[in-house]
Amino acid sequence: MKIVIVGCTHAGVAAVNAIKQFHPEADVVIYERDDNVSFLSCGIALYLSGEVKQLADMFYETPEHLAAQGVSVKTRHDVLAIDAKTQRLQVQDLTTNDVFEDHYDKLIMTTGSYV
Ligand SMILES: Cc1cc2nc3c(=O)[nH]c(=O)nc-3n(C[C@H](O)[C@H](O)[C@H](O)COP(=O)(O)OP(=O)(O)OC[C@H]3O[C@@H](n4cnc5c(N)ncnc54)[C@H](O)[C@@H]3O)c2cc1C
Repeated sequence: MKIVIVGCTHAGVAAVNAIKQFHPEADVVIYERDDNVSFLSCGIALYLSGEVKQLADMFYETPEHLAAQGVSVKTRHDVLAIDAKTQRLQVQDLTTNDVFEDHYDKLIMTTGSYV
């Protein structure tokens, strides 16, 4: 089973951890627009107040550590479109600007929200 996760801060990392625990045999691919994973947006206030000195302290997971667990981590990749009928998605590599297609058996959207 191939599981694609779109977006990887809190919810994305939580999804990976749950998959690794309950479905360790699954192939997991992460597409994340930024060049990092697990950014603690809740910590922005701590950074602005000076309690936390550097933004680098706002991370608790790394792409390298996830990759070492067998996860395919595609940072700087933007998911442009998803076709739920064919279970395919269109992705842009933000480093090269190349656009390509991928497919999934299960899709997990952890792209955040706004109100
Ligand atoms: C200032 C601030 C303070 C907060 N304080 C608290 C608190 O005290 N307690 C609390 O519980 N919560 C707090 N929150 C809320 C908490 O941080 C959010 O609930 C949490 O960040 C949401 O996590 P998420 O993984 O769902 O989405 P996000 O953190 O929004 O992550 C979404 C990710 O998806 C990626 N993405 C989006 N679209 C695409 C795409 N098309 N292709 C590829 N990648 C994509 C983005 O680059 C991003 O990395 C706070 C938030 C903020 C901003």
